[in-house]
Amino acid sequence: SEYVNRSMQEGGWIRRMFEVGIALKAQYGEDNVFDLSLGNPIMEPPAAFHAELLRIAQSPAPGMHRYMPNAGYPETRQAVADTLASETGLPFGAGDIVMTCGAAGAANVVLRAILNAGDEVIILSPFFAEYIYYIQNHNGVPVIVSTTPEFDLDVAAVEAAITPRTRAVMLNSPNNPSGVVYPETDIAALADAITQAEERYGSEIFIISDEPYRRIIYDDMTYPQVFPHYERTIVVNSHAKDLGLPGERIGHIAIHPGYAGKAELFDGLVFCNRVLGFVNAPALMQHVVRAVQDASVDVGEYQRKRDFLYDRLTGMGYSVVKPQGAFYLFPRSPLADDEAFVAALQEYNVLVVPGKGFGTPGHFRISYCLEDRVLEGAMDGFARAAEQYLG
Ligand code: PLP
Repeated sequence: SEYVNRSMQEGGWIRRMFEVGIALKAQYGEDNVFDLSLGNPIMEPPAAFHAELLRIAQSPAPGMHRYMPNAGYPETRQAVADTLASETGLPFGAGDIVMTCGAAGAANVVLRAILNAGDEVIILSPFFAEYIYYIQNHNGVPVIVSTTPEFDLDVAAVEAAITPRTRAVMLNSPNNPSGVVYPETDIAALADAITQAEERYGSEIFIISDEPYRRIIYDDMTYPQVFPHYERTIVVNSHAKDLGLPGERIGHIAIHPGYAGKAELFDGLVFCNRVLGFVNAPALMQHVVRAVQDASVDVGEYQRKRDFLYDRLTGMGYSVVKPQGAFYLFPRSPLADDEAFVAALQEYNVLVVPGKGFGTPGHFRISYCLEDRVLEGAMDGFARAAEQYLG
């Protein structure tokens, strides 16, 4: 279709870098190209995951690979609800949870369920580029609002962007690409501003909180939850990052247990999970993750990588907001034209993604969910680019 052709030409920065990487590796050899463009975690799943997978495979229960209710297994949904209850203090039950094909599947199901054609969804730049397409998939209109220069929530800017057609505000904390975690005070202020707008317009506005990096936070931080601040909150989440399972496509949607319209919303989500063609989240993964809700990859390893990169890059003169979570850095580009700077780094066989791919030109994204060898190898290229452009 024309829309798909146009979208493929406009977007796809991460994919494009991936292809450049393949070409450079063919030319210079695998070990001489430092690809920091992809958010594909190298961390293997925790031992508890493989132990449970083996246990299940060694004594398969009859029917464990059949169709199930479209919301997922009640026992798995209960396990997710129990985890959320302990993390938020709210009385989650299995009826508040729908298992999904990752956070991407979850976001599409939610948007399909709540949007009428032309409804607006506010997203905050820098943002995960796929949000634009997820919203457009369901005939919504993305409305981009900037965060502060430090990538924090700008509540006044969000408030000013809300219209009678606003149906949702999407949050992503820890953020891809900035690594920023929104503090509880800002979330509370945002919730107040949205509530006032609802009263002004007689509308209902959801916060969709995309939280796949919720457990990847540093410096002993406790995750600032959105749920306690706003009843029209829908969380989308996945085990792609916290259990290192991006290829297994396992995630969930959680509805606030106090939301007045939750029965209708739940039915809508289940219907959309079915008719968007997901049908249900993968059965085997639902069996496994049920038992490993408390496990996660070694977050200390990611923190070590963050510290290494942050210290080295700031030492070279790059301007970087120190990430509090996720596994990305989003430095300011020494050249106003981030695409030109990314091309300059390519000359040194270092691959990163221009900020324009995240709605924030003038920056670039580094992914550090990579082997130390790649991060260390990239330092020379960063240093030479700094000498050239930061003087
Ligand atoms: N949301 C954000 C912010 C992400 O960074 C990603 C993946 O990188 C996703 C959603 C999609 O996650 P999943 O692989 O669970 O669909």
